[in-house]
Amino acid sequence: MKKYDYIIAGSGLFGAVFAHEAVKKGKKVLVLERRGHIGGNIYTEKVEGIDVHKYGAHIFHTSNKRVWDYVTGLVEFNNFVNSPVANYKGEMYNMPFNMNTFSKMFGISTPKQAAEVLAKQRAEIKGEPKNLEEQAISLVGRDVYTKLIKGYTEKQWGRDCSELPAFIIKRLPVRFTYDNNYFNDRYQGIPCGGYTELIEKLLSGAEVRLSTDFLADRENYLQTADKCIYTGPIDEYFAYSLGKLEYRSLKFETEVLDEENHQGVAVVNYTEREVPYTRVIEHKHFNFGTQPKTVVTREYPTDWEEGMEPYYPVNNEKNNELYKKYAALAEKENVLFGGRLAQYKYFDMDDTVEEALSLADKLL
Ligand code: FAD
Ligand code: UDP
Repeated sequence: MKKYDYIIAGSGLFGAVFAHEAVKKGKKVLVLERRGHIGGNIYTEKVEGIDVHKYGAHIFHTSNKRVWDYVTGLVEFNNFVNSPVANYKGEMYNMPFNMNTFSKMFGISTPKQAAEVLAKQRAEIKGEPKNLEEQAISLVGRDVYTKLIKGYTEKQWGRDCSELPAFIIKRLPVRFTYDNNYFNDRYQGIPCGGYTELIEKLLSGAEVRLSTDFLADRENYLQTADKCIYTGPIDEYFAYSLGKLEYRSLKFETEVLDEENHQGVAVVNYTEREVPYTRVIEHKHFNFGTQPKTVVTREYPTDWEEGMEPYYPVNNEKNNELYKKYAALAEKENVLFGGRLAQYKYFDMDDTVEEALSLADKLL
């Protein structure tokens, strides 16, 4: 008899959901987390009474009712709707691309007028868009591309838009209504008590060890449990033996300001190339805060190097091919790989919950 039924490397959303399901089924679960806190990238921390999203803005949105019922069954969610504003050289535009954006950019007022302007600009791209630049122009035309997409995207991904996959930009809605909701999903919100409370609920009943790296002593850990779920980077698991996958990383600069309302909205995107950060978030607005002070964070994208947190997989062809080779090695391991880093996929939180639940459905 081994001491645990499951050992889970990583206490992010994937690991925590799986742990919750396993504990519900009466399994003994050990979660190892190499950071000094639980929750991975959705971790929030209270500062001046405000839930600070330590690893960047996190807005839960989904059209999957099972996932929504699951998370809202654990903690209460507020009715936050993400409506970021883009700042291009001091000009303010509503996001995502909608009638407010087109009206300001083209001086038009009706959907028909907007469609006419865009139809002319879109005609520049013939055939199937081959990369992000062509995809963007074929969606919203060159003016919007130049002011709101090009600079932001090149900062975010550290590459030219013509070298990036088209799918990245397809995440964003394009609408001919005056609707600033950044997402098209049926359900949206943020946990009223912060994401850390959600993770705490998910991990209740599991043994959790912080500041503990599974890979540092993996043979030993594997002896103590029947099964293992690994949620860290897949290439790191294999000691980068086939080469390194590329990730984007971020640097966060956070400040407490002695003012009540700094930017009037939770997220401002800085879309020009010359400003080095991509976003400034003012955390209190995620939860309609009225505290006397405010906390703001500037987000600077950077290349990932060993020792940094790998936040975004760079899902271009080269990396996806390499990932497939690692995934083939993973098949032969007595370990299951799950989550944004172990599956090397640009999962949102709802995708992550869905993946973890389907693994639990299969295994438990
Ligand atoms: P992670 O959160 O990365 O968790 C993995 C955990 O494993 C980490 O805690 C890590 O420390 C730990 N770990 C790794 N290796 C080891 C090891 N060897 N031993 C022990 N522990 C280990 N999604 C949305 O739906 N809405 C948003 O608005 C949104 N915004 C985002 C903004 C940013 C800046 C980023 C980076 C992501 C955003 N996401 C958003 C995506 C969301 O963060 C992910 O879907 C989710 O956090 C993935 O959870 P995970 O458990 O797979 O990974
Ligand atoms: N994007 C952009 N301008 C913006 C916001 C987003 O060009 O003001 C592009 C950029 O390429 C980004 C992609 O749209 O990587 C997806 O944006 P999203 O906000 O979904 O990215 P995430 O929240 O994952 O960082």
